Amino acid sequence: MNRSGIAVAPDVSSRKRKILILGGTAEARALSIALRQMGGFDVTVSLRGLTNVPQAYAGSMKFGGFGGVEGLSAYLRDGQFEACINATHPFAAQMTENARLAATATGIPLLRLARPGWKRLPDDIWNEVESIESAVEAVGRDDIVFLALGAQGSRPFARLAYARFVIRTSDPVPMEARWSNARYLTGLPNHESVLESDVFQENHVSLLVARNSGGDRGYAKIAAARSLGLPVVMIAPPKESGGRSVTCVPDAVAWLKNPI
Ligand code: NAP
Repeated sequence: MNRSGIAVAPDVSSRKRKILILGGTAEARALSIALRQMGGFDVTVSLRGLTNVPQAYAGSMKFGGFGGVEGLSAYLRDGQFEACINATHPFAAQMTENARLAATATGIPLLRLARPGWKRLPDDIWNEVESIESAVEAVGRDDIVFLALGAQGSRPFARLAYARFVIRTSDPVPMEARWSNARYLTGLPNHESVLESDVFQENHVSLLVARNSGGDRGYAKIAAARSLGLPVVMIAPPKESGGRSVTCVPDAVAWLKNPI
């Protein structure tokens, strides 16, 4: 009501625009920071777990899954979000499909922000495959295989009793979960390709299996394989079912001018 007792509409011009970013990547972080610098946005960043460094994000943080499509739909609706940007890892297929279905159910605009994959260079020896199952089939009997897939991603290779593996994980793999034909390294990927070359040579690696995740962080191993002439089984990201998508933060910011 104004002083004359006439009802007036609330002033929406100063209200911040509520945006949900599904995070877990460098792009999600960069987007949250860009939106804070621009001002006018009320950003929530959602992470699957606590492993990412939350301080690096700008905005309110939410940790843990939503509880499937229904949970995400309710979260978007109840939180009165204006738009959602799915900036999860290029291989986060389940989250991406859930976001697509929740956006359809709620009518809330959705954008996929996923960095482009790496491109093969002339000296790369890549066997490009579409799935982890095809990657398993590509391993030869005498191979010493470096699996750059984490503990969970390495599991399908457990049935290959005839090959030998080198598995690097950020957290130590418990003794009872270790394979007798694998050597385990604990630590993050090196940023320098010479250090990755040293790891491959010290472990007599003859084949690298990697996901084509794009970005800078995991590229040193790919460059190292190229310099050593080491073959790579390169797994392509899962196919996504349409919708608006961009590959860089400026394009995601531009989409927010008119999110449809
Ligand atoms: P996913 O399989 O697509 O997600 C599985 C479930 O985790 C989702 O259904 C959701 O649970 C929850 N979730 C995922 N991302 C979330 C987020 N940002 N906020 C809230 N909940 C989230 O994805 P993923 O398991 O994270 O990764 C898939 C593959 O990519 C794996 O092979 C993984 O090793 C690889 N990868 C992922 C990341 C990453 O940061 N995500 C990084 C490196 C590699 P609800 O259904 O309960 O909502």
